[in-house]
Amino acid sequence: MYAQKRFIRLITFLFVIFLFFGLANNCGRETNITHQRLREYINTIKVINTHEHQREPAEYAGHKYNFYTLLANSYLKSDLVSAGASPLRPEIVNRGNLDKLWDRYGRYLDFSRSTSYYSHFLSGFEVLYGLDEPYFTKENVRSLSEKIAENYSNREEWYERAFEAAGFAYMFLDQYWDNFNVDIDTRYFALVFNINQLVMSTPLRSSMTKKEAPEEQNIYKLAEKEGFTIKTLDDYLAFADHLFQKFLDHNAVCLKNSLAYARSLDFKYVPYEKAKALFGRSSYSLSNEEKKALEDFMFHWVIKKSIEVALPIQIHTGYLAGNGNTLENSRPTKLNNLFLRYPKATFILFHGGYPWTGEYAALGKMFRNVYLDIVWLPQISREAAVRALDEMLDCVPYNKFFWGGDCHFIEESAGSLEFGRDVVAQVLAGRVERGLMTEEVARDVALKIFRENALEVFKLQEKLGRSF
Ligand SMILES: [Zn+2]
Repeated sequence: MYAQKRFIRLITFLFVIFLFFGLANNCGRETNITHQRLREYINTIKVINTHEHQREPAEYAGHKYNFYTLLANSYLKSDLVSAGASPLRPEIVNRGNLDKLWDRYGRYLDFSRSTSYYSHFLSGFEVLYGLDEPYFTKENVRSLSEKIAENYSNREEWYERAFEAAGFAYMFLDQYWDNFNVDIDTRYFALVFNINQLVMSTPLRSSMTKKEAPEEQNIYKLAEKEGFTIKTLDDYLAFADHLFQKFLDHNAVCLKNSLAYARSLDFKYVPYEKAKALFGRSSYSLSNEEKKALEDFMFHWVIKKSIEVALPIQIHTGYLAGNGNTLENSRPTKLNNLFLRYPKATFILFHGGYPWTGEYAALGKMFRNVYLDIVWLPQISREAAVRALDEMLDCVPYNKFFWGGDCHFIEESAGSLEFGRDVVAQVLAGRVERGLMTEEVARDVALKIFRENALEVFKLQEKLGRSF
């Protein structure tokens, strides 16, 4: 009798275990199918990429094109430095041969095999070059280099092909290295007015600017060339007005502030009279605080102007590219006073504010006029992007999200898009499976992130007079 009972218990136990693993397995399969369906749908979306730094071939005249050219212009090169390598500069690429370069950088590449910088960079070669290996090796770098050299021997044709193959419809171009250039290739790019130099180049800092900034960044030389004389704050603002008009005439779609690389995002309100008085003084007599006050005044002026001309402002928040900077300067909540003061301006916060992703989402939730662009976040950390987007969807309406690539070369942009698609598909599939949204809404979220929100918020069709 006792043995019989034990036997029945054992059978029941085995049945429950079987049922549990059966269901769990099935559940996993369902998630995979949903994920796959969503991923395939996302692949079909013609992407409006809200942020890129694509370089013109003329800027790389005289350069060798091989794997290391692209690496030297990628985010991954910073991970090599974090791992202990010396910085990979373009001159080194021009001098070195491929095997020597591998001997010098290969082991640091290997140490970086776990990072998102590495994987998204690799992903670009999977998409555009058919690379079918999990990691870079001395051998595949040699064969990739041959293909890169061949593609860049006819860059025009290669760019057109790669742009299409990656799935882009249009890109926003931020030329932080040539702030005032309005002459861009409008087949691929929408013009962005990067206002860093306009804010930082008050006359009182001009002696520094003149020495340090390259010719094309020098606002005073540009003013002279265009027939303006700048002696007072009013003169400066008149030239700033002229620059805005010039960018509007060339169909600029937004402004960009990446000042967190150079200073804090804390922009205090400074009255006009105070700024005027500071502007009139010798630069040597100004304290750092007074110099900051002039920049603060100028950014507030830019925001007021952005309202007048209906241009959204993209702002870098969070993690700073490269090696070594002051992270705290980029904290998104430092901008809170601006959101309160200018409810009619449109602010777009970049990069998930990483590592302050929660604060970043909270600002998008709290303010009607604060939008969130996950640009570059999947490349900084894929897993952080998954967590952040899940949280954003949990608390912020999805008409407020965008995606951008943030790269210098099309290969890395293609890899970034693959990462962006992966992150969005994974988060949405998880939410569908957890019963938090239907698959139909999940598709709508993806379409809005990769395309429709940008069309709508930047009024692209209306401003550019073309469809995408
Ligand atoms: Zn950028």
